[in-house]
Amino acid sequence: EDRLVGAGETGADTLDTNLRPQTLDEFIGQAQARENLKIFIEAARGRGDAMDHVLFFGPPGLGKTTLAQIVARELGVSFRATSGPVIAKAGDLAALLTNLEARDVLFIDEIHRLNPAVEEILYPAMEDFQLDLIIGEGPAARSVRIDLPPFTLVGATTRSGLITKPLRDRFGIPTRLEFYSAAELTEVVRRGARLLGLNISEDGAHEIAARSRGTPRVAGRLLRRVRDFSDVGGKPVVDAGVADAALTRLQVDRLGLDQMDRRFLSCIGETYGGGPVGIETLAAALSEPRDAIEDIIEPYLMQIGLVQRTPRGRVLSAEGWKHLGLTPPAGNGE
Ligand code: ADP
Repeated sequence: EDRLVGAGETGADTLDTNLRPQTLDEFIGQAQARENLKIFIEAARGRGDAMDHVLFFGPPGLGKTTLAQIVARELGVSFRATSGPVIAKAGDLAALLTNLEARDVLFIDEIHRLNPAVEEILYPAMEDFQLDLIIGEGPAARSVRIDLPPFTLVGATTRSGLITKPLRDRFGIPTRLEFYSAAELTEVVRRGARLLGLNISEDGAHEIAARSRGTPRVAGRLLRRVRDFSDVGGKPVVDAGVADAALTRLQVDRLGLDQMDRRFLSCIGETYGGGPVGIETLAAALSEPRDAIEDIIEPYLMQIGLVQRTPRGRVLSAEGWKHLGLTPPAGNGE
């Protein structure tokens, strides 16, 4: 994904690990998740046990990986990370699990993309810290049981509905992450500017925050691009005017939408008369994978009320029509 406002991770973002909060106290927003985690971490530490397994779900870029790292750090244990699609075989998972030390955190990103055979052996591992493996093939095959150190699995997925019920049920701490408020994102931007040594005014931070789609990853990315414009333009302070000029040049509109979002909105509006139109139809019309639409484009457009999901498909709201600068056809648009 190479959209500027895209919430998916890109190579450039991995350079931005220096913007990652390192402790729960440094982590901005997600107040409820933070409060709960604080208690579970303290309780586990006090007992000397592994913390219960945690499932983070919510759109990309909201801080799932960051929180998983923070949990490990605050528990005082090692952090191992992998992702669903990377674990091809049961043996790959077995290798990861048998290398853990007691109470370690194993983070599995995109856990909904685990291969079913791998998922199956994860169940007893999570529940009883036991691994049941089949060694060999055919009549010579035999099963072995291996005891694992108690560990904490932290899973991340974009939507909790994507993972199977047996897997979901094995997480003691399911935690939904929400889009950030403008005030929280303003704080994220100010913190980022401080770490980058960038002089930013309050209204400048607010302008970037308002256009970051409720997503800290997007805020960090927009901040870096605005910094480029201000460096090259010789502006000593990033204020709302500087931020607006840069983001407008980058075709990020007032609501933080880019051309992809506008294409999506106008496809519903202009091609399908405002809807309802099914997700598969939209995916085909836009030549975009359905997953990308459902994970990355739609959640924010729904959050800000431009699009609604109905049993018969997606509908453009009155706000959506207004944002496109169009008038809904008579008897439509609501
Ligand atoms: P996810 O795993 O949900 O896709 P990440 O944890 O990778 O998201 O976070 C994306 C980026 O956003 C990271 O680079 C991190 O620095 C930043 N970030 C996430 N949450 C916060 C936060 N609460 N405060 C500041 N920065 C954050």
